[in-house]
Amino acid sequence: MTTFQNLSLPINLLENLKSLGYETPTPIQEQSIPLLRDNKDLIAQAKTGSGKTLAFLLPLILKLDENEHFPQALIIAPTRELCEQISGEANKLARYKKDVKVITLYGGTSLRTQVASLEKGADILIGTPGRLLDHFSRETIHLGEIKTLILDEADRMLDMGFADDILKLVSNLPKQRQSILFSATYPENIDKLTKVILKNPVEVKIVSKEKEVTIEEFVYEVDDKDKALLTTLKHFQPNLALIFCNTKVKTTEVSDMLHKQGFDVATLNGDLEQYERQEMLLQFANGSLPVLVATDLAARGLDIDGIDLVINYDTPMKTEDYTHRIGRTGRAEKSGLAVTLCDEYGMRKLSEIKPQLKAENISTLTPNKNFYMQGEVATLCIDGGKKKKVRAGDILGTLCKEIGIEPKEIGKINVYQKNSYVAIKKTVIKKAFNGLKSGKIKGKNLRVWWLD
Ligand code: ADP
Ligand code: MG
Repeated sequence: MTTFQNLSLPINLLENLKSLGYETPTPIQEQSIPLLRDNKDLIAQAKTGSGKTLAFLLPLILKLDENEHFPQALIIAPTRELCEQISGEANKLARYKKDVKVITLYGGTSLRTQVASLEKGADILIGTPGRLLDHFSRETIHLGEIKTLILDEADRMLDMGFADDILKLVSNLPKQRQSILFSATYPENIDKLTKVILKNPVEVKIVSKEKEVTIEEFVYEVDDKDKALLTTLKHFQPNLALIFCNTKVKTTEVSDMLHKQGFDVATLNGDLEQYERQEMLLQFANGSLPVLVATDLAARGLDIDGIDLVINYDTPMKTEDYTHRIGRTGRAEKSGLAVTLCDEYGMRKLSEIKPQLKAENISTLTPNKNFYMQGEVATLCIDGGKKKKVRAGDILGTLCKEIGIEPKEIGKINVYQKNSYVAIKKTVIKKAFNGLKSGKIKGKNLRVWWLD
């Protein structure tokens, strides 16, 4: 078995990988990393959850020139959430180097703030096509020193109609560069990008072996989808459930319905402000709101640990959408479960996109009517983050040492630029809230509020 050691990486990077819990490279990493270090252009295809992010970030971070003042790498990704996820990984991976600066650029947040951080300099830019192009036409980003271009989730970007924006952006990059394209599926029209953008690319395709397929799939033909949804949840009794609807309106309706039935629910759709989207995802991932109802916005690239059930409340419109939706479970070698609820129209649609799936009778399920999904924890938001030099350890310290909360009553802590979030067992959250309100973190009085 290949280990990261076999890839002849610098010792401080190896130590960092170890501290992040990465011991052995996944197949796509094992194959891509040497090629990318060798400056080859690359087309890489591997299923979701196979570790593509690290496959492109690791060689990139190795190569960064610490003396360069302008951005050296441009990563284009389809959604804001994915940009944030890649940026998080990049920051963790780059910890072993000095001052690697990563900036995310996507719509829904103020251009002015982005311009201000661009002015301070950056090494890696990660953005969505539209916002990047916006910055380019305003001349607020400098692309003249870009040495590496990465297109992540290229299939999704084509789907979303970003091809022209991408081509326009890329035509303004230096010709001398390395170009890399990562995708989970390989749609026919992808030539549109590869022919123009890549030079003599090497292709790496990881075919998943039978035993890696760990997602069990069920289809139920039903008249009443709300009722069927409750039956499904109460039968399978997941820890974290992700429910997909085809429209924004439907996500709200389904969330409201579940909420009335006693479930703690998050909703994610394109109508929400950026910070709301981030807070919804965060509360889902930390278990405060263990059900997430979302549009296909959440279908690609999102990596949330421990989603054990994906439900298609609406039948997806395309085979790729189906694949990506159910790919949110069964990640990192864990098994997962996917259920599709179809009315008559949905059945017809499903027979087009997934003819091999056969419907079963939902009456075979045995729901437990007393089962609800409610977060054992809730989330507190603290008005201080990286900018105020707040770290997870500071929050933990105040909570445990000064307020008297047990470490086991504290869940995930997320520290962002301006705010931090901490998940706390509901049994002690009042105490934590009052304590934080009147106490100090790192010697500072910070405002605290409760998310719900
Ligand atoms: P993809 O982009 O292929 O869908 P991701 O890059 O999001 O997949 O990775 C999926 C998960 O696997 C992430 O949680 C990531 O931290 C984890 N992961 C990636 N590489 C490794 C590795 N070498 N060892 C263990 N876990 C890994
Ligand atoms: Mg990915």
